[in-house]
Amino acid sequence: MRWQNREQSSNLEDRRGRTIKRVGGGIGIGAILMAVFALIMGENPLNVLQQFSNETTEQVASPTNKQEEALADFVGVVLKETETVWTKLFREQLKEEYVQPKLVLYRGEDNTGCGYAQSTTGPFYCPADQRVYIDLSFYEELQTRFKAPGDFAMAYIIAHEVGHHVQYLMGITSQVENQRQRLSQEDGNKMSVAMELQADFLAGVWAHHTQKMANLLEKGDIEEALNAASSVGDDRIQMEARGYVVPDAFTHGTSAQRMFWFKKGFETGDLRYGDTFKELNL
Ligand SMILES: [Zn+2]
Repeated sequence: MRWQNREQSSNLEDRRGRTIKRVGGGIGIGAILMAVFALIMGENPLNVLQQFSNETTEQVASPTNKQEEALADFVGVVLKETETVWTKLFREQLKEEYVQPKLVLYRGEDNTGCGYAQSTTGPFYCPADQRVYIDLSFYEELQTRFKAPGDFAMAYIIAHEVGHHVQYLMGITSQVENQRQRLSQEDGNKMSVAMELQADFLAGVWAHHTQKMANLLEKGDIEEALNAASSVGDDRIQMEARGYVVPDAFTHGTSAQRMFWFKKGFETGDLRYGDTFKELNL
């Protein structure tokens, strides 16, 4: 993908510098004297003591390297390209205004609007705070664990998560959530798969238009995306950690299905062809 020197999104939230919470040291003699004084004056001494046992937070500089910074820049550019495309498509195809999501870069672990996330969660979109969460170590994982190398493999992953945001804005997310409550687990899972495949379709729609508008694709890029779509099929992207909320932890569909829908989005570039729910008969 020809992404160098292109504009970056302003919606990137870099949380890679970890914040460590520590409870401050013991309560000194001064605090105790103050508390006694408060007691004499008829005030609650606990208020005074609480002021002294202060909680401190400490910012720890994140070790970064050139490669990771380039990757962060890349993510920023891809996010910007999704904003450009979806703003246009919302106006043209939906007659609505696109609301840009934030994308959070975190390292190791993070608190999200959807619960606790850690890097093994894999990238995901949280509808509750309209944010995409990515630990950049996932790029490495794409290459080694999923055997899906290439910058456009990563672009596809980002576009898929942004696809979930598009679903949220279109009201599909809440419709599916409502329906899922009435359905058996099996049928509910089918709906989740349809949801995931639609996000793949939307990633394809994005690729179609970003190519048309900015001519960013290089030879082999679509193959990289299709390979990634295939290799992260069937829930392989997720390592579900019990007890944590992992919104994107549903079954994602088979590799063939994922490739089919990404391709369909890429070939048509038209939202009307993205009804992955049609054949469910629920
Ligand atoms: Zn997904």
